[in-house]
Amino acid sequence: MTLARPIRLLLLGAPGSGKGTQTSRLLNQFPSIRAISSGDVLRTQIAAGTPVGKEASTYIKNGQLVPDSTMVGLITSQLSQKGWLNQSSTWLLDGFPRTVNQAKSLRGVLSKSKANLNLVVELDVDQRIILDRIEARWVHVPSGRVYNLDYNPPKVPFKDDVTGEPLSKREDDTAEVFQRRLDKYNQEIGPLKSFYADIGILSTVSGNTSDIIYPKLSKLILDKFGTTA
Ligand code: AMP
Repeated sequence: MTLARPIRLLLLGAPGSGKGTQTSRLLNQFPSIRAISSGDVLRTQIAAGTPVGKEASTYIKNGQLVPDSTMVGLITSQLSQKGWLNQSSTWLLDGFPRTVNQAKSLRGVLSKSKANLNLVVELDVDQRIILDRIEARWVHVPSGRVYNLDYNPPKVPFKDDVTGEPLSKREDDTAEVFQRRLDKYNQEIGPLKSFYADIGILSTVSGNTSDIIYPKLSKLILDKFGTTA
C-alpha cells in the first residue's frame, strides 16, 4: 500500500511493548517506509566492535540509557547517510528519541531539512504483561526480527524464519535489568509525551498484544495519511 503523503513516524513504547514487531508489520504493509531502530543500530555497532559499540555496551548491559550526545550523533549521521533529511522522505524511528534532550536535538536537525516528524505514536501496553512475557523473547540480531516463544514462535525452534540463522537471547532481557529499563522508561516518557503533545503530533494506541495493536496503528496511519488510488 502506498501512502498519499510522506510519513515521518516515531514509535514510543516501553521496552518489550512490541515496537520492533509493529515496525516489521508496518514495513510489510507500506513498503515505501524505511526504518531505523536505535537498539538494532547499537547492537550492530557492538557486534562490529566499533568505538561507539564499546561505549554503548556497558550502558546497555546495565539497563541504562546511552548518553544523549552519542545517540544524537549516531542517529543523525544515519539519517544523513541514508539521504533521509529532506521533505519528501518517508521513514520511521523506533527507540530514538527516548529523552526530551534527544527530541529537542533531533527536532533541530530535522527542522533545518524541512523533514520534521509528523506523527508520534505511543504503544500503551500493560507493564505487568510485558514483564510476564519478556523471558520468552528471542531475537535475530542481524535483522532485528523479534520472536516470542509463546505468542510468535519461529517456524523452526530457535532459528530465524528468513535466514535459518540461530536466534539469541538479549543480555539485557533478564528480569533484573529489564525492570531497570522499565523504570527508566517510566521516568522519561512523561516529559517526552508532553513535548510531542505540545507540537500536536502525539497519538496513543492501547492493547496488550501486537495483534490487537497493529490494526489500530494501521488505521491511524491510513486515516491521517491516506493512500494513493
Ligand atoms: P531497545 O532495543 O530499543 O530496547 O534498546 C536497547 C538498549 O539500547 C536500551 O536499553 C538502551 O540502553 C540503548 N538505547 C537504545 N536507544 C536509545 C536511545 N534513544 N537513548 C539511549 N539509549 C538507547
